[in-house]
Amino acid sequence: MTTQARAAICQGPGKDFTLEHVQLDDLRGDEILVRMVASGICHTDMAVRDRQLPTPLPAVLGHEGAGIVEAVGSNVTSVAAGDRVLMSFNSCGHCPSCDVSAPTYCYNFFPHNFAGARADGSATITQGGETVSGNFFGQSSFASHAIAHQRNVVKIPDSASDIPLERLAPIGCGLMTGAGAVLRSMDVRAGMPIAIFGVGTVGLAAVMAAKIAGANPIIAVDMHDSRLDLAKELGATHTISARGDAMGQIAQLVPQGLAYAFDTTGVKKVIEGVFPLIAPKGILGLVGASAPTDDLVLNESSLMGGGKRVIGILGGDSDVGAFLCELIAYHARGEFPFDRLIRYFPFEKINEAIEASESGEVVKPVLRISAE
Ligand SMILES: [Zn+2]
Ligand SMILES: [Zn+2]
Repeated sequence: MTTQARAAICQGPGKDFTLEHVQLDDLRGDEILVRMVASGICHTDMAVRDRQLPTPLPAVLGHEGAGIVEAVGSNVTSVAAGDRVLMSFNSCGHCPSCDVSAPTYCYNFFPHNFAGARADGSATITQGGETVSGNFFGQSSFASHAIAHQRNVVKIPDSASDIPLERLAPIGCGLMTGAGAVLRSMDVRAGMPIAIFGVGTVGLAAVMAAKIAGANPIIAVDMHDSRLDLAKELGATHTISARGDAMGQIAQLVPQGLAYAFDTTGVKKVIEGVFPLIAPKGILGLVGASAPTDDLVLNESSLMGGGKRVIGILGGDSDVGAFLCELIAYHARGEFPFDRLIRYFPFEKINEAIEASESGEVVKPVLRISAE
């Protein structure tokens, strides 16, 4: 049965999102209909609006959804109607990466997340018979209802029943990425130094995770003093302004070198600048999006001789369900206070929320879509 939904439609660069009525397709066997309670807003949504990602427009974006299951397809066993759920990225489930529980590196990531339709090309969202791009990150959560999939929907454990869904909404993207980079991809060791470049959502999640891992010192570097202040409150032992000689200050602070450096900026100068500061066996983790034309120049004998590793990281090597539940548990214990990053906006104020994010006024805007 077709579901009527109210969705925020992205029209393209320089244009406001418009709230309109759309129709959601019948559920397939592995699909889940979720009534959205809240959705975080992320830079990737803006990257589609600004055409840095080729998802066709108009589109219903949004990929940090939280809500309540309304209906499930015939093959779904992981959740049932009435369950409180979070949504994250989607994956195929049958490629060499998915086979080893590394779905962030799914060989078929694009068709399952960015194509604007199901992987088989069929539309999940229409408006008066015309196709609107949907299935964004397997969800398109800027809407009253979303079609998601068994592979990207996570049931919130009963132990977290007292945590509001709207707070948990943004866990499945940038927070998971930053925390996973530290706890999984780089597997940061206690007592070892880490520097984190750029402390927006991803970098601040990395700061909190570095504290959980017991890294020391935890050095945060950013252009904005207000973000550095927040990084300090969340666990950074040292903060350094990127406006000065950040690399020189780090070299003084950790003369033996950095066991870990985590770059969220994607800026070539930053990545190449920190590489000589990496200690033997150290890891430089990269998560920032650089320009497609950017190549890195790194000294080979330093890379080889130091046994250093430079690694690209997607989604913090999250395996979705298990890792999100781990993060919820950290939050419940007060060790992952990511709610400090959030400001809530009514769904109708989506354009103001985007503006507040782009101006740097708000780290993580979350839209309130319906009451829990
Ligand atoms: Zn995102
Ligand atoms: Zn896959």
